[in-house]
Amino acid sequence: MEQKNTPIETARQTLMQLMQRKLPPTPDNFRSVYDEIMGVKSVDKSVELAKTLEKVLLEAGKQKPKYVVVAQAIAPLIEKADWSKLEDQLRKLFPSGSGSADVGEANWSVLIRSLLKQLEVSHKGVTLSRKKEGLSKVLTNFASDPDVLAQKIQALINSWGTGSATETVGTSSLPADGGGATQVTANTLASVQWREMLLRTFELVLIPHLQAVSEHQQKAISLLTMMRQANGEQALAKCANDFKPILLALEMERDHQARIHEALTQLLRLLVTSMGSLVLEDQWLYAQTIVINDIISKPLNINTLYDAESSLKELTYKQSQLKPALTEAKDTLKKMVTTFVDRLVEMTESTSDYHDKIEGYQQKIASTEDMGELNVLLNSILEDTRAIGLSVQRTRDEFTLSQRHAMDAEKRIQELTAELDYIGEVAHQDYLTGALNRRGMDEAIDREFNRADRHNTALCVAMLDIDHFKKLNDSLGHATGDQALTHLVRVLKDVLRPTDVLARYGGEEFIIILPATPQDEAIKAVTRVQRELTKNFFMHKNERVLITFSAGVAQRATGESAEHLIPRADAALYLAKNSGRNQVIGAELLPEPDGPAVV
Ligand code: GH3
Ligand code: MG
Ligand code: MG
Repeated sequence: MEQKNTPIETARQTLMQLMQRKLPPTPDNFRSVYDEIMGVKSVDKSVELAKTLEKVLLEAGKQKPKYVVVAQAIAPLIEKADWSKLEDQLRKLFPSGSGSADVGEANWSVLIRSLLKQLEVSHKGVTLSRKKEGLSKVLTNFASDPDVLAQKIQALINSWGTGSATETVGTSSLPADGGGATQVTANTLASVQWREMLLRTFELVLIPHLQAVSEHQQKAISLLTMMRQANGEQALAKCANDFKPILLALEMERDHQARIHEALTQLLRLLVTSMGSLVLEDQWLYAQTIVINDIISKPLNINTLYDAESSLKELTYKQSQLKPALTEAKDTLKKMVTTFVDRLVEMTESTSDYHDKIEGYQQKIASTEDMGELNVLLNSILEDTRAIGLSVQRTRDEFTLSQRHAMDAEKRIQELTAELDYIGEVAHQDYLTGALNRRGMDEAIDREFNRADRHNTALCVAMLDIDHFKKLNDSLGHATGDQALTHLVRVLKDVLRPTDVLARYGGEEFIIILPATPQDEAIKAVTRVQRELTKNFFMHKNERVLITFSAGVAQRATGESAEHLIPRADAALYLAKNSGRNQVIGAELLPEPDGPAVV
């Protein structure tokens, strides 16, 4: 006979099943096994209840967003039937006094911390830029009401879903090797840095390059603002689109500038070449055009241009000194010749006058019989003859004087021309600073190296380069840069020994030849100059400007050539620059085959 299950029997069987299945006898488990034995579909009332709760909360959220926040927070919990956490979420609906923080009364520090954390945590299907875009929208739309804003931010965070805990920065659930989180942070940091670098390049390099095309420059400025604010993919795509015509304009502008640059250089070449052939007879001027021609025949850079400028300044300066004297001498000669011609005309006039008079006297002598009248005539003739004699005498004296002056002037012209030519050949000083120029340096090197060889003494070469001189030029102007160079040379000359030779190697680089000085002494001497510069400031508009330089010092090995020694000093200078500047570094001493050189 079939035995029908009574509720008591079913309950007994349920308990036995629970034990067999090793399930704890919770009401839920009991109910589902009971229903199973009874053959009815088990209805999980709690899930149903929770879903109703979620629905109600969502509806209530239309008036008060905080309910939506909680509804969204409990949805995944209902799915997992995680009732304990559900209670926590529900408690958030009540003021903080009742247990948990209330999102409605924004607990900002908690919220911001959570936001920062959730921004770094990876959420499936939500990129960082989408998060930022959403955040930006929430900030724009709800900025006027802090409480609503806080709720919206929280809602936004919730909408990102559950983050991947392994990628959470600073949580205890880091992967075993601990590298994943660091990697994410590094990547985020790197992309922020990249963005910042690009924006700065855009602002500091690209926009100024568009100066000549103001319309595009304006567009670039607006684009920069847009790029700064762009967060979403859409905004970025728009930026990229707007960037295209700017890039094209830039490329065209660059081409244009390159053509102008080339055309100007070509013009300068032509000018110098034609100037060279025009002034062939003026040896000194010709020599200068050759120097400039040589400079501009190489690829242009700012230093060679400065050299060309300095060379031209030198030319004009010396010309201005000698040319007036030459012109004066030429003027004197011209005046002499003019006087000579004037006097010649005058004399011719007075002698023809005399001849006329004599002719008149002759006629009167022939026609008169009166001795008295003859006597008068004779007196007149004598007087006129004496007058003409005086005039001739005067003219002859003046001729002689003029001739002497003309000879003097010509001699002076020859001397001055020779002097100009000589200066062209032997100019040894740098016009701007008064230090030796390259030609002067070459001669000094020959002289001092020979002396060192003859006396077997140590000799050092120091190479100096002003630190960050470009910056000084940029901030205070090129002319002030020039004054700073002169100031440095003054200090150098003051501190160094009279036997040390200072030459301008080019631009803002100097070479010091220190005869009879071993390397440690040379380093001390250059360091003294550095110290002096910190006391003896360069003044610009009553402001102290500190000039520093880096230097490399190399001691000459016996017989070592300048071509070998100077690069060694240069390499030490390079080291000094790389070690933070404002330093003096000595090059490695070369081995001496016959023992160390003596001073
Ligand atoms: P660093 O510390 O690396 O040497 O920096 P820097 O700016 O000094 O760089 P660098 O030596 O490469 O640049 C030299 C600059 O000096 C280039 C140019 O602007 C400037 N300069 C060169 N000759 C002259 C000159 O005769 N007068 C002026 N005013 N500036 C010059
Ligand atoms: Mg330099
Ligand atoms: Mg420099």
